[in-house]
Amino acid sequence: MREISGHTRTCGLIGNPVEHTLSPVLHNTLAEHMEQELCYVPLKVAEGALEAAVKGAYALNLLGTNVTVPYKSDVIPYLKDIDPLAEKIGAVNTLVRVDGGFKGYNTDMPGLYRAMCSDGVQIEGEKVLILGAGGVARAVAVLLADKGATEIILLNRTVEKAQKIADEVNAFVGKKLAFGMANEDYRKLPEGEKYLVIQATSVGMHPNDKDVVITDEAFYEKVHTGYDLIFNPSETRFMQLVKAAGGKAYNGAKMLLYQGVIAYEYWTGTNVSDELAQIAYEAMQAAGK
Ligand code: NAP
Repeated sequence: MREISGHTRTCGLIGNPVEHTLSPVLHNTLAEHMEQELCYVPLKVAEGALEAAVKGAYALNLLGTNVTVPYKSDVIPYLKDIDPLAEKIGAVNTLVRVDGGFKGYNTDMPGLYRAMCSDGVQIEGEKVLILGAGGVARAVAVLLADKGATEIILLNRTVEKAQKIADEVNAFVGKKLAFGMANEDYRKLPEGEKYLVIQATSVGMHPNDKDVVITDEAFYEKVHTGYDLIFNPSETRFMQLVKAAGGKAYNGAKMLLYQGVIAYEYWTGTNVSDELAQIAYEAMQAAGK
């Protein structure tokens, strides 16, 4: 157990619920190994109390916080400043203390990118399918456009939401790169084409481990790599179907790791080595069991 002294700085996670988070394990492991006087705690914020929580966190000299569901967009009006990428994505998951308040960042997408690089999954030049059109799918679409995907197709139960994100991405890049389709429209995808598929719905999360958005095995013949953003269970039904059809499959645990690592680097002005990230990853895996 590390000693808490008068010099210890506090960071934490603003959200609701926060009881099941692995972020304290991640950040406290990093602080311990880097011998930094920093302590990370859950900060549950009740509905309607977000503004008071952000102001209070600043008044209490917090070094920074993460922000999770349901406050990633709602927190934006209470920031002193916002990073351009977070503004483009429309969601903030990290607050960094600056003069007079907090600056908001989105480390989810750089975190996903670092995770994909670490797993050897390439975006540039790829045709990519995104399953889902929620907050995270929108951010993933922005990341893919930024990193050189040649085609982005969003498949969603509510097709209007997929089309809206596609229109926004096309407006950012100034060309028709993204398309929205209904889930069942996967049957219209061209014969023989293989895709990188990012699973960005909440379908298949524990305790609904057996659920998957597309059950048809024929769909998985079109997938060379499946990247599920869900990390619990560690092998989702989606991943099983991708592997059964001969593709490579990854879960969202490394995205969770790296979004935290990047936040930690912002708060402390340090670089976390790959070796230490791996130690923190193993601590999270052990705590998540
Ligand atoms: P969200 O905004 O609530 O969006 C959920 C998406 O799932 C929507 O596209 C929704 O379709 C779809 N969906 C939900 N239930 C469905 C069903 N029964 N059948 C078909 N589609 C269904 O959620 P989000 O914030 O984007 O997060 C999505 C997931 O990303 C989370 O569940 C989490 O697992 C993962 N995530 C991972 C990390 C990480 O660090 N690894 C970080 C953040 C999030 P409709 O639009 O039709 O409702």
